Amino acid sequence: MAKPKKKAKSKKAKAKPKAKAAAKKAAPKTAAFRTVFNLPQVTVPIFGSDQTFPVRRIYCIGRNYAAHAREMGSDPTREPPFFFQKPTDAIQYVAPGKTVNHPYPPLTKNYHYEIELVAALKSGGKNIKAADALKHVYGYAVGLDMTRRDLQSQMKDQKKPWEIGKGFDYGAPIGPIFPVSKVGHPSKGAISLSVNGEVKQNADLSQMIWSVAEQIEKLSEAFELKAGDIILSGTPENVGAVVKGDTLVAKIEGFPDLTIKIV
Ligand code: MN
Repeated sequence: MAKPKKKAKSKKAKAKPKAKAAAKKAAPKTAAFRTVFNLPQVTVPIFGSDQTFPVRRIYCIGRNYAAHAREMGSDPTREPPFFFQKPTDAIQYVAPGKTVNHPYPPLTKNYHYEIELVAALKSGGKNIKAADALKHVYGYAVGLDMTRRDLQSQMKDQKKPWEIGKGFDYGAPIGPIFPVSKVGHPSKGAISLSVNGEVKQNADLSQMIWSVAEQIEKLSEAFELKAGDIILSGTPENVGAVVKGDTLVAKIEGFPDLTIKIV
């Protein structure tokens, strides 16, 4: 009985230096590790080109138009800007000229639209000054910060994080990105949203409390911004609920319409 055990032990001991040498050979210092599976890179097409914009993070600013801040129950004159994030894969690309089906998300009975101008960064940094901020912008797009308002409100009331109201699948429909060379840095112009042909939100980009440059300054104090980050720059007043079957048309002057149908 003891004999095979002893034999096995001695075999193992003999094999040890060999195994060590093999392990050393298999794992050189410059080993290129491979992921166990691949994940798709989230991208947004760049208008009029075969290129796409790779998205790193989605930042959103809250209450950036005075009348919307008031409708959400806060005082726009005193509040510093605040930010939240959506998961990058919440992006739903909406091609111009198409009506894209947008799934009504689970758990909510009060699903809201918020039309927003989106700024897309080609570079970043920490503590960027507003005066230098716009050189980091690659381009702009029309976007929607879709919101499960009832869940957001419930969590607010309980002083819990309201991520469930904002960070969900398909929660960030976005049109193609227009490079700055085509659209400049839009700081004025009509921004509106209609539901089934009826205008609901109707304002002007110039009514933003914090400009895109100021948003970049403030964000970069809290986070190191990087290429691929996009910023949803806030929605004007008259947000509201949609139901299955509704068609939403989001418009910003100088951009093609973004159209989704809630399904
Ligand atoms: Mn918003």
